[in-house]
Amino acid sequence: MDKNSQHHPLLRYELDGLSQPMRWLLEKNLLQGKILIYGTDSYERVLLSKKGYDIEVCNRDYQPTHPKEKFDTIISIYLFNWLDNIEQNNVLLSVSRLLKHGGKAYFAVKHHFGFKNICLNEQHEIVETEANVTLPFKKVFQGYILDIYKFQHFNIINRNRSQCPYCSPQQEVMLENEYSYAMLSNSPISKGHTLVIPKRHVANYFDLTINEQIACQLTLNRLKKIIDEEHSPDGYSVSINMNAWAGQGVDHVAIELVARYENSERGEKIGFEVNK
Ligand SMILES: [Zn+2]
Repeated sequence: MDKNSQHHPLLRYELDGLSQPMRWLLEKNLLQGKILIYGTDSYERVLLSKKGYDIEVCNRDYQPTHPKEKFDTIISIYLFNWLDNIEQNNVLLSVSRLLKHGGKAYFAVKHHFGFKNICLNEQHEIVETEANVTLPFKKVFQGYILDIYKFQHFNIINRNRSQCPYCSPQQEVMLENEYSYAMLSNSPISKGHTLVIPKRHVANYFDLTINEQIACQLTLNRLKKIIDEEHSPDGYSVSINMNAWAGQGVDHVAIELVARYENSERGEKIGFEVNK
């Protein structure tokens, strides 16, 4: 795509069918590489495809199976306004999984409701509630009725922030949501040995807030599905070590998911291998 053509008046006219967030992303030249629109209708995909953008749509209501490939740019427009906190965190897990390492996601949310806005979803014949949303990511656009947040993987944003290996992970993040992320173990004792880690530096699992514990649990649940698909293990162990006497080597909570395989040595040192 010719970068200069993006600011041509004719192009702007042709692209009038785009939403305000999409127009802003287009004008800032943030629609890069392979693009996914997550959770909204496809009319924007048609308009942008005509202009040469490599763009796909994944509507979570109608396409429970996600695309297999990963994307450089993922855009979600107003989806979060329709979701409760648990579903927001589940969407974040999906987006973080679909985003290439180094890729960027943009979430546009509306924030003009003085109260919860109840309306009818005619397609599903159900009443839905639209609510204000604030996300814990960098705000790149602040408007009168909407904000746009930029999301990048936790390990990229926090690369050199801390000496703690879980506050500044060196490995790629597999999945993440508002308060937690998942990555492969540094010292795997089986295929699919992974960790779920809260983003906040807390040593004891029971000192996490209930929302952080819920975020960790949602990540653990999704991680188990991924390990099932990739390795088909015969069983799992889930463990959390607290304090050195329990084998905790890093002063930051880690929930271990160890995939177990029939006819293999089960290994009694769950946890000790990882944190030494
Ligand atoms: Zn830490």
